[in-house]
Amino acid sequence: MQWIDIGANLTHESFDRDRTAVIARARSHDVQQLIVTGASVIGSSAALELAISHPGELFATAGVHPHYASHLTAAELPELRQLLQQPQVVAAGECGLDYYRDLSPRAAQLRAFEWQLQLAAESGKPVFLHQREAHQDFVAVLRDYRSRLRGAVAHCFTAGQQELEDYLALELSIGITGWLCDERRGGHLRTLLPRIPADRLMLETDAPYLLPRDLVPKPRSRRNEPMFLPHVAAAVAAARGETLQQCAAYTCANARAFFALPPMALPETAPPATPG
Ligand SMILES: [Zn+2]
Repeated sequence: MQWIDIGANLTHESFDRDRTAVIARARSHDVQQLIVTGASVIGSSAALELAISHPGELFATAGVHPHYASHLTAAELPELRQLLQQPQVVAAGECGLDYYRDLSPRAAQLRAFEWQLQLAAESGKPVFLHQREAHQDFVAVLRDYRSRLRGAVAHCFTAGQQELEDYLALELSIGITGWLCDERRGGHLRTLLPRIPADRLMLETDAPYLLPRDLVPKPRSRRNEPMFLPHVAAAVAAARGETLQQCAAYTCANARAFFALPPMALPETAPPATPG
């Protein structure tokens, strides 16, 4: 089996000491391709560098998270545009609206969101979306841009049935994280999962955030890692009444098509000896 983690914040400082080991552990748990989330202009450059140093295995997104929207100025758009032209950058974002934390003023969030949808449309690359407690505005903005976007994924979907139906109507893909594994707040997601068409579902850890709560044993650091993606997948497969193999097959196919990922390179093997 193979897995693809479509959202891992591997440039996060909590990985500074052991990033290479984290990537190796992911690989040994069959998580063979990872998309490193860019959440700021600097963070997106760092994500790109990381992707360049792991060709075929790591990819990056380039964008500014709504938390940092007030830092994004028009003067920085050419840099974002340039990042989006790099082959290792496979999506625009993470971008969107977050009225739950409201860390940037809403007007700044809306402006940064529209700028990035515009850049995504120009680049021909899909967009990696974040939304929390901002559904109405989010959907209203997206409706204006959707026909110009190659693809769009609502990352870390945690909302309810109405939101899901609105997203599906907008032809969004849905990213599912270990939020599902939280017995206190993930229950509604288990009932919604069977409503997601198999060709729209992708998996992500959102590491280092959202360590699955039912993981045994839990790492002492409480840090989430891409190697726990199969644990999330097992919860997804159980909620949908599928085998793990079925879940791996279609979620990988979706991620490869959505982000236009190359097929996973086979491990180097010695060429067969030619008969004497
Ligand atoms: Zn997010």
